[in-house]
Amino acid sequence: MSKTILITGASRGIGAATARLAGARGWAVGVNYAGNAEAAAATVKAVEAAGGKAIAIKGDVAEEADVIAMFDATEAAFGKLDGVVVNAGILDVAAQLADMPVERLRKVFDVNILGAALTAREAARRLSTGRGGNGGSVVVVSSAAARLGGADERIDYALSKGAMDTMAIGMSKELGPEGIRVNSIRPGLIVTDIHASGGQPERANTLGGGTPLRRAGTAEEVGEAIVWLLDDASSYVTGALLDVTGGR
Ligand code: NAD
Repeated sequence: MSKTILITGASRGIGAATARLAGARGWAVGVNYAGNAEAAAATVKAVEAAGGKAIAIKGDVAEEADVIAMFDATEAAFGKLDGVVVNAGILDVAAQLADMPVERLRKVFDVNILGAALTAREAARRLSTGRGGNGGSVVVVSSAAARLGGADERIDYALSKGAMDTMAIGMSKELGPEGIRVNSIRPGLIVTDIHASGGQPERANTLGGGTPLRRAGTAEEVGEAIVWLLDDASSYVTGALLDVTGGR
């Protein structure tokens, strides 16, 4: 069955790969992006080339009005939503907690926690059967860092991802009776631009060699798991935290 989904932070990386895989299933995708309109347009083209439909929607997930507007735009273009991927996230440079200024903590928590909560809240409002929605699937893109702790590296990031996992578990209980499944994907070391943003462009490839599968993962390998959780094939899976880590 064709689906309408919204993916935050889908101009590149895991979000863009998930959009392409959704397109290959013939789904319609709201492609949210923060600032790079060209990259978002490329994702839209890739979804269409794969067989789906898509629109690009600019918006900051940490801004309530932007989040509401991206849901409105997706539903106006393609009809009621069936799924939402809470994917947008940021990673700062390696530092110990003792050296992290409050501005950094606020920035990371603003996008990774508040942004995720605003997106998930809007998903709950739109998808709940008791509020006129069709039910559906919400996938939160957390991180293996949620259980590894990010010690001596990025405790701020790990903390934010732990919060996302907690949210997914709580939402699965609250929203199951509303026809909504909520699951968390916890990627490990995946080759995307986030590591350059974190000051270590080669981090995934360097550390990926130490995983049981002896390599970093690709955005597509994470996207496959996300699309499975969005699809009806996973209809009895909710409240799960799924590692996609090569065994890390
Ligand atoms: P990426 O940097 O390529 O993608 C992140 C996307 O989020 C970008 O498109 C960025 O523009 C967008 N974004 C950032 N702030 C935003 C905001 N305020 N509003 C809207 N969009 C915003 O990195 P990625 O690896 O594809 O990351 C996707 C998700 O996967 C993130 O939540 C990240 O924490 C998580 N993750 C990634 C890895 C990895 O190794 N790459 C591992 C674990 C978890």
